Amino acid sequence: MKNMRLLVFLGAMTALVLGLGVSGCAGPKRFSPVSPVQQPAGRTLVDGLQLVGVGLAEQKTSLTVSATGACLVLDGRSGQRLARLDGGEVELTCRRSGDRVVWQSGQRKGIADVVVLQPLDPGYRVGYGDHRYRGEFLILPTPASLGLTLVNNVELENYLRGVVPWEIGRHGRDRMAALEAQAVAARTYTISHLKSRSSRGFDVFASVMDQVYRGSADEDAFCNEAIDQTAGLILRYGGKEIEAYYSACCGGVTSRIEEVWAREGMPYLVSHVDAMDSGEPFCSDYRYYHWREEWTAGRLEEILQTTLPEYLAYMSEPARIEWAGSLFIPRDAGGQGAVPGGLLDLEILDRTTSGRVSHLAVRTEAGEYRVRGDRVRWVLRPESGNPAILRSARFEVELIHRDGRLAEVATRGRGYGHGIGLCQAGSLVMAERGYTFREILAHYYPGVSPTVGTITKRK
Ligand SMILES: [Zn+2]
Repeated sequence: MKNMRLLVFLGAMTALVLGLGVSGCAGPKRFSPVSPVQQPAGRTLVDGLQLVGVGLAEQKTSLTVSATGACLVLDGRSGQRLARLDGGEVELTCRRSGDRVVWQSGQRKGIADVVVLQPLDPGYRVGYGDHRYRGEFLILPTPASLGLTLVNNVELENYLRGVVPWEIGRHGRDRMAALEAQAVAARTYTISHLKSRSSRGFDVFASVMDQVYRGSADEDAFCNEAIDQTAGLILRYGGKEIEAYYSACCGGVTSRIEEVWAREGMPYLVSHVDAMDSGEPFCSDYRYYHWREEWTAGRLEEILQTTLPEYLAYMSEPARIEWAGSLFIPRDAGGQGAVPGGLLDLEILDRTTSGRVSHLAVRTEAGEYRVRGDRVRWVLRPESGNPAILRSARFEVELIHRDGRLAEVATRGRGYGHGIGLCQAGSLVMAERGYTFREILAHYYPGVSPTVGTITKRK
């Protein structure tokens, strides 16, 4: 979850204000959502704060975007209209000039700090690469770097239509409650992560860094129905939106957030068995409830030459160093963390309350690396690249020696993902068994209930 845009939502008036957060200058003009959602009877939308800025591309030398109908080209700071582009298919190409954006469409061209491509009809779609999107595009200079950044500025409920089917998959009506729970979790995640990528010029990434978002071309009717049925509902604890994390499969036991990441604990992100009345875990039939990954010692040694130095750099950042504790103990005076050398041994030193590896010792010719929390999944990267990181941190290690030397390493594990919050595999089974989306959310986020209301003001 994902998601996580340069729209900086300034709190005053709960208006969405597009701020670039880069140079400290005043943010550009606020642009209204181009496709206001229809409110189902009896529901109130999240008040006012509805736009999401989704980062689609960064550091692009040039960007060519399109639209399926007539559009305005606007100056993103002043709101001034620069051009009207007519035709059935509109195309706009941008490149960077200094700290500004040069735009061109046919014979028409100009320059602005930020360029907005805004369809004149909310039924039109904007396009980039193979994908179409609801809403509008913003093109701005990539902050503190070269090239251009492309942001899709889209109304929250429409954004979810491009997220929910990619995050939980496509399912029938018998699993509608899980789709509804996912819609509420994704909506809440989005709200609680607004501004989280503001230094880059948007709110959320369109990938697993936040939530996978693929625009409007492959929306799913049941997912859209689940989004509409729960429109405006968000999860709160103590009057504030929660951090609604979710993952594919908890492997039978969910995670405490502070044991997985360098984060503070939260009363609703605790570890519990993914079952009712101590029965079989809801997610136990999931295809990766059990998994195995293996390497020859030589291949793992090669992988570790990259992943261990990356781990040291990642954990040495100020936000993590204290949580991480001791990272590397040299074997002798010459041992350097940046050069691991030959692999000697692996040992699980400690586990979290949910049984996940919390400290893994990786011993090499350079010394002992102490790999902490979920980052063990990045360090023990699968050789195939699929998945890109180890499926979960809930695993056992098997070491196979031959002729007195380490020959093979295998991990046998459970679940897929960090295991914090909602377990998607479990929620689908709960839905099949007749639990409502409120019951599913209460199971995975204890003490929290979905409510409708004004979003907490954000700084
Ligand atoms: Zn589960």
